[in-house]
Amino acid sequence: MSKILTYLINNQHDIEETLLQLVEAESPSKNKMLTDKCGLVLKESFETLVGGKVEIIEKEAVGNQYRFTYGDGTETEQILIIGHYDTVWDQGAIPIRKEDGKLYGPGTFDMKGGLAVTLWALKALKEFGHFGKRKVVFLVTSDEEIGSEHSRALIEEEARKSEMVFVPESSISHSGAVKTFRKGIGIFKLIVHGKSVHAGIDPWSGASAIDELALQIADIKSLDNKEEGVSINIGTISGGTRTNVVAGYAEADIDLRFRTKDQAHELEHALLDRSSFIKGTMVEMQGGINRYPLEKTDSVMGLYQQMKEIALRHGYELEQGSSGGASDGNLTAGLGIPTIDGLGPVGDGAHAENEHVVLENLPYRAALIAELIKRNSR
Ligand SMILES: [Zn+2]
Repeated sequence: MSKILTYLINNQHDIEETLLQLVEAESPSKNKMLTDKCGLVLKESFETLVGGKVEIIEKEAVGNQYRFTYGDGTETEQILIIGHYDTVWDQGAIPIRKEDGKLYGPGTFDMKGGLAVTLWALKALKEFGHFGKRKVVFLVTSDEEIGSEHSRALIEEEARKSEMVFVPESSISHSGAVKTFRKGIGIFKLIVHGKSVHAGIDPWSGASAIDELALQIADIKSLDNKEEGVSINIGTISGGTRTNVVAGYAEADIDLRFRTKDQAHELEHALLDRSSFIKGTMVEMQGGINRYPLEKTDSVMGLYQQMKEIALRHGYELEQGSSGGASDGNLTAGLGIPTIDGLGPVGDGAHAENEHVVLENLPYRAALIAELIKRNSR
């Protein structure tokens, strides 16, 4: 067992305490007052445990965001760790409780557990005087659960200065496997304008936006391809006014998922390039690719191999897995920066009422991150 892991095991109680404090400061993405309070808890934890440079990025619409820096480093490229402290839960929506060695509560798994183990990973490195050649920037944002609109530019700016990115997001449920692949996502809105007329008097002089929408949907769904990992979900449709009126307007919201950047470009093109089937209607597709996939590149697999070796030395088997859901890791991976995701603790129930983390191996998960930093910054 490494010195780092022994140290972290000896601090099990305090690691749990750090996590509990973060969870108790509930932080629904859309409540700036509450999220800011949680941000302060995070800031204090960093100052007490690690004590590096703290920069606050003030935000008006969402909680303030934080850039914590550990070490000075002589290498120009930094190691970037990204996380978010907002959760999907309204205040009081699910209870916080400890049971059977697990901590249940809002954001325990997604991803305050990941924030707590990262803080303790840095604390352990500091304790042993490890300041590597690369400085470590721990960037924590406040709007990941609502699309990262207010943090995307910041994340991308930091990623461009980085050699690699670690994302202590929730791991694969139960197994704790890290994520070496995430699908990309596109968000589109299809708008159809028709010509509204009386459905009885002279229906053929009109042009139904709903009929056109139905044809468009059938056409769009033909791009869905399970084998290629491409899925298209028409999530909502609406349109028309009354049964006796030919619909003048209809629209649909579309969610696209894909495996590769090449697919993304092809699909985006196919979706945006629309013409109408029915004379007299007009179609307009809005939106586009929101996040590129986190692809399983050689450099991502290299990071996974390192983690696997570190885990083995601690007596753990560390698996890898993939997710159909996107995270901010997709943003950094989309820029071509090697990104490994799902480094948070073992647990289950992200966005679900049984959300929890397993407390027993928090020290091990913190040690994984600490030693991964150590290896890559010396
Ligand atoms: Zn998350």
